[in-house]
Amino acid sequence: MSAAADAVIIGGGIMGLFCAHELVQQRLGRVILLEKRFCGAGSSGKSGAILRQHYSHRTTILMARESLSFYRTLKERTGRDIGFRPAPMVLLCHERERASIESNISLQRSFGVAVEMLDARQLRELEPRGEFGDEVVGAVESESGFVDPGRTIDALASLCRDDHVDLREGVRVIDVLLDKSHRARGVQTDDGQTIESPLVINAGGPWAGILCKRLGLQMPLKVIRPQQAYFVLPGGHGSEHFIFADLLTGFYWKPEAAGWTRVGRMSYEDDEEVPDPDKYDEGVSGSFVDSCRRGIAHRLPAYHHAVSWGGCGALYTVTPDAHALIGEVPGIAGFYVVSGFSGHGFKMGPAVGKGVASMITGCDPGGFDREFFDVDRFAAQQAITTSYRFGILG
Ligand SMILES: Cc1cc2nc3c(=O)[nH]c(=O)nc-3n(C[C@H](O)[C@H](O)[C@H](O)COP(=O)(O)OP(=O)(O)OC[C@H]3O[C@@H](n4cnc5c(N)ncnc54)[C@H](O)[C@@H]3O)c2cc1C
Repeated sequence: MSAAADAVIIGGGIMGLFCAHELVQQRLGRVILLEKRFCGAGSSGKSGAILRQHYSHRTTILMARESLSFYRTLKERTGRDIGFRPAPMVLLCHERERASIESNISLQRSFGVAVEMLDARQLRELEPRGEFGDEVVGAVESESGFVDPGRTIDALASLCRDDHVDLREGVRVIDVLLDKSHRARGVQTDDGQTIESPLVINAGGPWAGILCKRLGLQMPLKVIRPQQAYFVLPGGHGSEHFIFADLLTGFYWKPEAAGWTRVGRMSYEDDEEVPDPDKYDEGVSGSFVDSCRRGIAHRLPAYHHAVSWGGCGALYTVTPDAHALIGEVPGIAGFYVVSGFSGHGFKMGPAVGKGVASMITGCDPGGFDREFFDVDRFAAQQAITTSYRFGILG
């Protein structure tokens, strides 16, 4: 059996779906998206889906900003509620880190991000239940928020179907096919199909490296297993708190629309590497839950007595500089990799889709800068640097 398309997209996560959407918007022609399980089955479905604009580079700030505007309109475009909830994000740091955070803040402000620096007294006014010693300062971004990842994926998949993307779930790509001149010519799937296409976009998230390896490519992508712990406050107080990223303790936490609180670690240095993303432990360990309880309770003491709702083990696909690889693979015309979002990609989805489409159709890239995400930057010794201790902050 065989079929033909103008572009084949591998992966129905947030990236594959936004790439499909943008390519159709740019009138590329017939787009087929292949998802081996169901849309959102990878990292996207378990995402915290925090939409913040606090970044330290022009490109990422602009992309986060553009994407936030897009997410705000997704309900209107699709008629489906994606669970957007405004929630200011507070990045806490020690007074001695203030100067470096302030320089990022000025950059963010120069692009219109609403963010301000608060001292400990102002933080106590903002969150009266919190404990902020005099050494603590915080950058507060007022326009941030989060979405429900499952509903967002669902809305986006419906948008793609309305756009006539041929979206096939339960179909795994087992090989990317090349012609004699080493150009992409399509894919082979596990249901015995060959799909001919001059463009193949590998948005396979944690699985992206596997298909690359089959082509003899060693991409700098590592799959790791971060955990998340969930808590609910007794007494029906819900999770009426802001999103916090606490550089002093290394924990972050966010409210969930259903009334619970999600807590995770900002550093993933100690997270175990996952050799086969089809087989990983989706559970959470007791010691992780305990460390998260102590992490959040250090600032919000009420969480000492919070009820544990368990948590999950998930997957991040990380690169050495914690920024994605986005672009055509050198030496294989028509084969694009879009992966390695290092735990902070969800918010960027709309801008990534636009950026990928711009490389293919020449449309306006918006804030996307192809050189920033160059897939060959490590070989060229051009890793991206950041002023944060935790790469995930970008
Ligand atoms: C616990 C957690 C919390 C996070 N919190 C945030 C946050 O608050 N804010 C934020 O911006 N980001 C966050 N992230 C990161 C963000 O969710 C990811 O960067 C993003 O979802 C990656 O999307 P993706 O489309 O690249 O990958 P995925 O969502 O993993 O999608 C890849 C898809 O490809 C499919 N696939 C793979 N190989 C094949 C194949 N051969 N054939 C067919 N299909 C295939 C998979 O089944 C999968 O559905 C978080 C991530 C996690 C795990």
